[in-house]
Amino acid sequence: MYGVRMEFEQILNDVVGDVRASLGKGSVANYIPALAIADPTKFAIAVATVDGGLYSAGDANDRFSIQSISKIFALSQAFAILGNDLWGRVSRENAGSELNSLLLLELGAGMPRNPLSNSGAIVTTDVILTENGKETKNVLLEFVKERSGNSEIGFNEEIAQLEVEHGHRTKALSYLLASFKNLENHPKTVAMLYFYQCAIEANCVDLAKSLLYLTNKGYCPISGRQVISASQARRINSILLTCGHYDVSGDFAFRVGLPGKSSVSGAITVVVPGKMAIAAWSPALNRDGVSLVALEALELFATKTGLSIF
Ligand code: GLU
Repeated sequence: MYGVRMEFEQILNDVVGDVRASLGKGSVANYIPALAIADPTKFAIAVATVDGGLYSAGDANDRFSIQSISKIFALSQAFAILGNDLWGRVSRENAGSELNSLLLLELGAGMPRNPLSNSGAIVTTDVILTENGKETKNVLLEFVKERSGNSEIGFNEEIAQLEVEHGHRTKALSYLLASFKNLENHPKTVAMLYFYQCAIEANCVDLAKSLLYLTNKGYCPISGRQVISASQARRINSILLTCGHYDVSGDFAFRVGLPGKSSVSGAITVVVPGKMAIAAWSPALNRDGVSLVALEALELFATKTGLSIF
């Protein structure tokens, strides 16, 4: 598919060399101290293929909090639980503004613009909470463990606590959703679970593996489970393409041409339907809140391999 495998490994090593000059540019997120101390010169990229191939380069064993990548997992679980009824509680349009806009939520009468915004992820978390009750925190973590096949994955308690302490706006979104009766559970509990899933710690290899179900018609080859239907996987990928990168999803589609999701910790995950999942990570963000080097690396990767959905 991509020539001999050695060639494929060579591409990742070339990417590491090519982005070296950009390491250290951009700024790490600083809304909580635990993210502000991240080393901006770190970089990793990992590729997991549907046929069991695994390739990585750079700091691929370094763990980081997955932050907004968790929104993909919450969306998948909520979609599996509610089916198309989910779309009665959250829309599928680009937010076109801040990730955590109270104004957009107010204008939408409590209907989040999409499941990858903070308000959207609070709704998907609420769906999971209604289904799983007291087990929810564990269910959220188990989902990532099972998809990645790594039972060592856990929460970073310090980050979780700091998110709870500093996440005033997210808590406000939760209460606003509740005021519009778009939460079935207490807004404080839902927000707390949202913060915990952001604080799940994993590395690029874990993340690439954990997204294979989205490349593979909803079937997770690692756990041997049909996580969501093929149709649901296709639809989630469309939301990743149109809404995965804050206000710059169009730019990401233009430069990389693949469904993906960015996060404030500097991780970007990408899905190549039918083929592979890719995770890249470097903590320093560009002005749009997207990892400067991970974006550059994914653009290079897509260009060198010719992989794009377009
Ligand atoms: N914990 C972050 C927040 O809620 C996640 C943001 C992100 O990764 O985009 O603001």
